[in-house]
Amino acid sequence: MRYEMMLPHQIRAAIAANTPVVLPLGVLEYHGEHMAVGMDTLAVTRALDLIEKEAELVILPPFYYGAASYAVEPPEGTGSVQVDSTALHPFARELFTGLLRVGFRNIHAFIHHQTENFATGMPTDLAFKFGARQSIFAFLEKTRGEGWWGDAKMADYYAQQAGGSDPFNWIKIHPLMTRETMGLYPFDHAGEGETSLMLNLCPEAVDMAKLDDARWYTATARQACEETGARGRDLILAHMRRVLGLPPRD
Ligand SMILES: [Zn+2]
Repeated sequence: MRYEMMLPHQIRAAIAANTPVVLPLGVLEYHGEHMAVGMDTLAVTRALDLIEKEAELVILPPFYYGAASYAVEPPEGTGSVQVDSTALHPFARELFTGLLRVGFRNIHAFIHHQTENFATGMPTDLAFKFGARQSIFAFLEKTRGEGWWGDAKMADYYAQQAGGSDPFNWIKIHPLMTRETMGLYPFDHAGEGETSLMLNLCPEAVDMAKLDDARWYTATARQACEETGARGRDLILAHMRRVLGLPPRD
């Protein structure tokens, strides 16, 4: 279900069923001459299109305006759009607060951009993680009052936490590819891995005739193929099913 297309009774049913609500999170960034600037976000949205066919899911309108950075290329004539993380984190806090107010308690975001450093964090994912934590703390204080954590009703907090049902689990930010996936699939920027993934998930975002493989990070793109992308897609879908609590498939 696309959130923007839902009627209020469908929203109430999704809240009651604790249906996962998913934000595709990404950037607009130069990905070589042969690939569309939306690659990192399209990888998320196209994977979610496939997951949506298998399970009940609420998909929020994608957020493309993360901190792309100009690390890869200056933006003039190349297309990277950098929005600083200091602007992103208040936005994330407000967005998540809004979703908590609606009633959702099973909120997820998936991000692909710069996630080789996901454990430590990079500006976009850190901004959204920070905004998520802030919104949860503020929401709990507003709805339960100060001292909510110390209240006798919370005596099972650590058990809740161990079981993954404490309030800090209401919002989770995930990398599109896990460490494990990166061990099984080429993780790169506009090289064989990303180009193959787009050839499979979004072929209209690739024009191999335009490939300029003089850049170090696009040097492997020539080896890209749809079959490799299919392998990456399957690893991504398996991870998505796992973290969204959906049944596995073979
Ligand atoms: Zn990328």
